[in-house]
Amino acid sequence: MPALGDQVQYVRGVGPTVAALLAEKGILTSEDLLYHLPFRFEDRQNPVSLDELKPGETASVIGEVRGSALLRTRRMPLFELTLGQGRHALKCVWFNSPYLQGKFLAGQIVAVYGKVEPSRSTTNFKMIQPQFEILPDATADAETKMLEVGRITPVYESLGGSRLASRWQRRVIFNLLESMRGAVPECLPRTMLERLGFPDRETALREVHFPPEGTPLPQLQSFSTPAQRRLIFEEFFFLELGLELKRRRMKERAGIAFATNDKVREAIREVLPFHPTAAQKRALGEIVADMRAPNPMRRLLQGDVGSGKTIVAFQAMLVALENGYQAALMAPTEILATQHYLAARKLLERSSRKPRIVLLTGSLDDDRKRTNRGLINRGEANLIIGTHALIEEKVEFDRLGLVVVDEQHRFGVVQRFKLMKKPNQPEPDVLVMTATPIPRTLALSLYGDLDLSTLDELPPGRVPIVTRRVPGERAEEVWDFVRRQVAQGRQAYIVYPVIEGAKDDQPELDFSRDESAAARLAPPATVHKTKPKAKTTELFTALEREPAPGAKLGLKSAVEMHEKLRNGPLAGLRVGLLHGRLDADEKDVIMRRFQRGEIDVLVSTTVIEVGVDVANATVMVVEHAERFGLAQLHQLRGRVGRGAPKSYCILVTGDRVSDLGEERLNAMVETQDGFALAELDLRQRGPGEFFGTRQAGLPDFRVANLVRDRQLLELAKLEAARFVEGPDPTVTEAERAGVRSQLKQSWQRKYGLVEAG
Ligand code: ADP
Ligand code: MG
Repeated sequence: MPALGDQVQYVRGVGPTVAALLAEKGILTSEDLLYHLPFRFEDRQNPVSLDELKPGETASVIGEVRGSALLRTRRMPLFELTLGQGRHALKCVWFNSPYLQGKFLAGQIVAVYGKVEPSRSTTNFKMIQPQFEILPDATADAETKMLEVGRITPVYESLGGSRLASRWQRRVIFNLLESMRGAVPECLPRTMLERLGFPDRETALREVHFPPEGTPLPQLQSFSTPAQRRLIFEEFFFLELGLELKRRRMKERAGIAFATNDKVREAIREVLPFHPTAAQKRALGEIVADMRAPNPMRRLLQGDVGSGKTIVAFQAMLVALENGYQAALMAPTEILATQHYLAARKLLERSSRKPRIVLLTGSLDDDRKRTNRGLINRGEANLIIGTHALIEEKVEFDRLGLVVVDEQHRFGVVQRFKLMKKPNQPEPDVLVMTATPIPRTLALSLYGDLDLSTLDELPPGRVPIVTRRVPGERAEEVWDFVRRQVAQGRQAYIVYPVIEGAKDDQPELDFSRDESAAARLAPPATVHKTKPKAKTTELFTALEREPAPGAKLGLKSAVEMHEKLRNGPLAGLRVGLLHGRLDADEKDVIMRRFQRGEIDVLVSTTVIEVGVDVANATVMVVEHAERFGLAQLHQLRGRVGRGAPKSYCILVTGDRVSDLGEERLNAMVETQDGFALAELDLRQRGPGEFFGTRQAGLPDFRVANLVRDRQLLELAKLEAARFVEGPDPTVTEAERAGVRSQLKQSWQRKYGLVEAG
């Protein structure tokens, strides 16, 4: 009896050679092959008639070959194919494709798919570079005809060249489905399927590949047929179920029940520099309630840039300190860790208890590290602030009570997990803060194992930041403006996408994917892996993702512009330079001088992106703004408008701005709502890019898509909670066992062994 777990090599039509190719695509079993879904469908039952076409739309058209020719133009060979339908005709054009010559014979029926463009010649329309398939003729065997014509036909991403293209997959998957009739085990309870109106698993798998006659094409294309929805739901359900179980298991562990008596409340009150917002009060209330409970806290504190997360975290840490425990704060970069360290010292100066605060980052010298580890180990350090070094430097805490992870959104689940694992017992409480707002859907899937507190309000007295786009030619006006602001005692940031000029291969920017072709054609950069520990994660994810375009595109760089500005337009001002290639001490000195107002204008790269807090800075100039991602722009803008004075964000653009770039810039000008911008960012880049890399802990989905399928994610979360809540008498023991076994499998596949279980 064939089973879903069978190795794909034994599937009819596959064999060892093809199996090796499939393995490269992550397809190892029959199940993997069945869950490789078509990405679109062609309606070959009711093909579109050419006179229904509209220029600009993307369509699939079936026609008869009327003629073809290879034209040698001066620039490149052009292949032209004319398809006819009665009186109408469609011209298809391919560039540089001489191999198409001789491929089409008059009278053949061909399906093409592409964007419809008006045509100047005798045909009504044309298509440039369409995808095509020659359809079987009368001599083809019955099975081929049945799979290729007169039906809604699935179109697949190729699994390896033209050999394993759609036609091959249709046949192999069809045969596999036939051979598995009655052999696909259900993995969801029957009553759940009935309640949600989903088909059983076998039916769903069949229909996502070979939709029943009459299925509306738009529904298929938007992945919203019952069969498609069932598979998407299934994938989300097992993710959410795993997260829910993890969350509950954690709650059952023994933790610390912190006391919050008057003494503790007074300790918090005496250091608080301002009245907390209602949102801050609510969030702190939720956090403290968790801390008082005898089980470990696992909570996510999310809020827009500037909503005041830091002070909430410090208050929570004070609760731990007052209870005689240590508290640790982990920041994503050295600059941030140092800033938190200074802020903590300033804040706790007022505390009557005078806790000992210790900084631990990778760049401290070894003696210093050893000393600090000792202090931490003997319990002489109360509040410990650091970077990754906190998990990497084998720190043994004496009495760790609370861990706060101030994370950049790419920090990810895995590291967090390691950190939580570290201390022995009792299990410390953990508070995760996101530096960037995350759309709820993503928060659910990525942080579904955490409880959520949201700061949905900014501290009072914030004046909205004025955001303007300025073309590069008008930079002089921008420098005038900066000078006037400095004359009023304010400070400014000027941010560049790359560190250095011509030889530079180290941009500090994750270029958005849509940028100019030149970016993609640029030769790959050497990836510098010096001192990886001290690096920020952002830099490496950026380097790994794209060949570094850097100055090859004629981008202005921080180093070069720092020189130019202080000798030219900003002469006479105190202009500082900050970028990721300075060592930690140098960065530290510059940041402190900027913070103390000894530097008027800080020329920088995105190292200042996250969290940096200088209330007197009122101007943020971003050059080549079209090249920055939305999350980055929003973070950068969040560096100003932190005090009472009116603040400005000036987005200076280069000469060419892509459509997506336009959309980003317009959004920045129109709104300051981080959640709205995050939504757009997610839509533009997709979840994978949004979060940087897979290491971010975001699962790879086989069927689901976090942007498209968000309602199903919510549904899956509810159903997972309901399932765990149980016991539901309508769910049989066998069904529960089925769910459990599928859960184990899917978590193993998604997360490997680290987090499975
Ligand atoms: P983020 O949420 O981006 O980390 P911060 O915690 O850095 O925000 O806070 C932003 C700024 O607002 C800081 O300068 C902080 O001191 C100030 N702030 C925070 N809460 C309040 C408040 N309730 N009233 C006034 N200022 C506040
Ligand atoms: Mg912060």
